[in-house]
Amino acid sequence: MCSHGGGRSSLFPSSIQQEKMPDRSVWVLALALVLALPCVGQQYREEAERIMTTTPVIDGHNDLPWQLLKRFNNQLRVPAANLTLLNDTHTNIPKLRRGHVGGQFWSVYVPCETQNRDAVKRTLEQIDVVQRMCDLYPETFECVTDSAGIQNAFQSGKVASLMGVEGGHSIDSSLGVLRTFYRLGVRYMTLTHSCNTPWADNWLVDTEEEKPVHHGLSAFGKTVVEEMNRLGMIVDLAHVSVDTMKVVLNISKAPIIFSHSSAYALCAHRRNVPDDVLQLVASTGSLVMVNFYNDYVTCKNTATLADVANHMDYVKKVAGAQSVGFGGDYDGVTRLPTGLEDVSTYPALVAELLARNWTEQEVKLALAENLLRVFSKVEEVKGTLQGTPAHETPIAFEELDGTCRTSYGYSSGSGTARLLPAALALPLALALRLSLLS
Ligand SMILES: [Zn+2]
Repeated sequence: MCSHGGGRSSLFPSSIQQEKMPDRSVWVLALALVLALPCVGQQYREEAERIMTTTPVIDGHNDLPWQLLKRFNNQLRVPAANLTLLNDTHTNIPKLRRGHVGGQFWSVYVPCETQNRDAVKRTLEQIDVVQRMCDLYPETFECVTDSAGIQNAFQSGKVASLMGVEGGHSIDSSLGVLRTFYRLGVRYMTLTHSCNTPWADNWLVDTEEEKPVHHGLSAFGKTVVEEMNRLGMIVDLAHVSVDTMKVVLNISKAPIIFSHSSAYALCAHRRNVPDDVLQLVASTGSLVMVNFYNDYVTCKNTATLADVANHMDYVKKVAGAQSVGFGGDYDGVTRLPTGLEDVSTYPALVAELLARNWTEQEVKLALAENLLRVFSKVEEVKGTLQGTPAHETPIAFEELDGTCRTSYGYSSGSGTARLLPAALALPLALALRLSLLS
């Protein structure tokens, strides 16, 4: 119910009414509009809540597991880590409920400084903490691994919980580790975080803070994408360089996602998606899940909910309503827009989209249906590749960095010379040939 009552015969002094008689109709119209605005706002909010009751939001990226590591060293049962009471994070159970969150890709993120060190172990521990979160709060979270599982969780009123690896450094250049992550339930991998891997360039090469090494992907990087297609793991292009985006969009057999990136045209930050890539997103049936981080939304410290809606409008305008999603980046960022302070605020953003004349169907696409379509397509591509064997060729040993790794498999038996670093192999071969000739 939204009524401001009738019977307001005069809100202005009679002297004003008399002096301004010719403008009276304008005043009345202005007053009616002012009185109607909160009412209209409330209607959009109610509409948003109604839509989200049946189509809750599936968000592309949330860093709660990182908070659990940093704050509690992944000890979920210490009293302070209680996810119902936890209150100084963007995410807790009551906020997820108020926000109508029905699906969440939890990021099993570990920083780039783990690269060539303990990245694999740390990532496994983040996978473990998400799985324990599902075990500890079974009435709230349901760990799922496919698109049907998300819809089942919707039906039972649970938060479908999926995992995304944020950064190719987490697999330590190993297809075996990639496959093992898949078996453990990981359903997307961001190809890089904010560092190059031995096989893919990250966004910092576009700011010239890092040098481009692969100009996209190395040959091994292309194999990683092929293997992800074969496994049915979604390729995520948030954090990669523009060259990497373009290479992947051209070679991937399945649509991809940007799990938490906004539009470069509105904020010229290299973490965002430029227009020519948005065209490729549209033509491949892919998806941009818009990031809420102030710095990517306005390129400033401050932003508002309306600024985020501008990004969603923009992606919709350039790539179509089938290419837009939500990728809040909650608990992974330090500054969030006014009106989008935590995971309870998604309905306010949906109300804003409705106020901007998004249709109910367009809103549903952005909330969940686009992600479900991309995920189903990734699963379908996996189905078509069932007969394709796993990729077995490892990365060349000389392409690996780090000093603490062993070289088992690379340096034994008949493969010795083939697997020697290239810089050594050629002179050795020449020396051998010369000695044979002499
Ligand atoms: Zn990120």
